[in-house]
Amino acid sequence: MLKTYAYPKYAYVQPQEQKDRSVARYPVVIVGAGPVGMAAAIDCRLHGIPVVLLDEDDTVSIGSRGVCYAKRALEILDRLGVCDRVVAKGVSWNVGRTFFREEEVFNFNLLPEPDHKRPGMINLQQYYLEEYLVDRCVELGVEMRWKNRVVSVQRMSDGVRLNIETPDGTYGIEADWLIAADGAKSPIRKQMGLEVEGKVFQDRFLIADVVMKADFPSERWFWFDPPFHPNQSVLLHHQADNVWRIDFQLGWNADPEEEKKAGKGHSAHQGHAGRRARV
Ligand SMILES: Cc1cc2nc3c(=O)[nH]c(=O)nc-3n(C[C@H](O)[C@H](O)[C@H](O)COP(=O)(O)OP(=O)(O)OC[C@H]3O[C@@H](n4cnc5c(N)ncnc54)[C@H](O)[C@@H]3O)c2cc1C
Repeated sequence: MLKTYAYPKYAYVQPQEQKDRSVARYPVVIVGAGPVGMAAAIDCRLHGIPVVLLDEDDTVSIGSRGVCYAKRALEILDRLGVCDRVVAKGVSWNVGRTFFREEEVFNFNLLPEPDHKRPGMINLQQYYLEEYLVDRCVELGVEMRWKNRVVSVQRMSDGVRLNIETPDGTYGIEADWLIAADGAKSPIRKQMGLEVEGKVFQDRFLIADVVMKADFPSERWFWFDPPFHPNQSVLLHHQADNVWRIDFQLGWNADPEEEKKAGKGHSAHQGHAGRRARV
């Protein structure tokens, strides 16, 4: 539950194939209505391809996740048709400052050149981006099926067959092409033996979203070894609705449950400790 955001609840509708006990075939089925699945769905529709998008949940992502959108991401969001909303709601920033203990040791300014359409960076909570992507999917005629959990995928010589669980039981559909956008831990990629390429570093962070009206500049501040969190780093970002996001580095061996307990010295109003891998 957030003070500043009411999570939408998208309606589950029993799929026609399940009612008919038939197996329909679609050109493209996407699993996962996160940013990646919805971006792929919108791009398909912009090319005139019919899309079915399945998600096991019925809302946007919960809690504090992605924050910053750089120029290239904003260009892509422009192509998808959601960038105006993202820029209108988000916080623009250009200046980043880096501190070692209490001393500023580096800063940068991403001030856009005059002919740039968008600012250097936009900060916006991921749930807003997802809400705008859902609206855009609906506008473009993506068939969104909430509360549809893919439980297994079978390869066929000319496509795939998916078994799907809904509140009304299970059903199957077929697809010429399947896009697995079911998140970092993707059970579908695992099931199909597909790997993700990239560099990963392992760490744990306590993420605090502090709702605060403050006169601070909208800048990104990053500390190494600050006096208020010795031997670790801290990152501060201003987001929409006067939410200030603070990421406290904890180290890979930290115990998330311990860190969430009151009295650990973090000024967190709402915080959750999570394991984050940057790729
Ligand atoms: C605590 C936390 C903090 C983060 N902070 C940052 C950050 O500061 N900056 C940053 O860039 N990124 C951050 N991230 C990462 C960012 O949130 C992800 O990179 C992003 O959400 C990935 O998008 P996605 O669409 O690939 O997957 P997801 O957003 O994970 O979406 C996957 C979707 O698939 C659905 N799904 C999964 N399995 C099935 C199934 N079997 N059937 C049907 N549907 C299924 C899920 O319901 C979900 O909607 C953070 C993540 C977490 C958890």
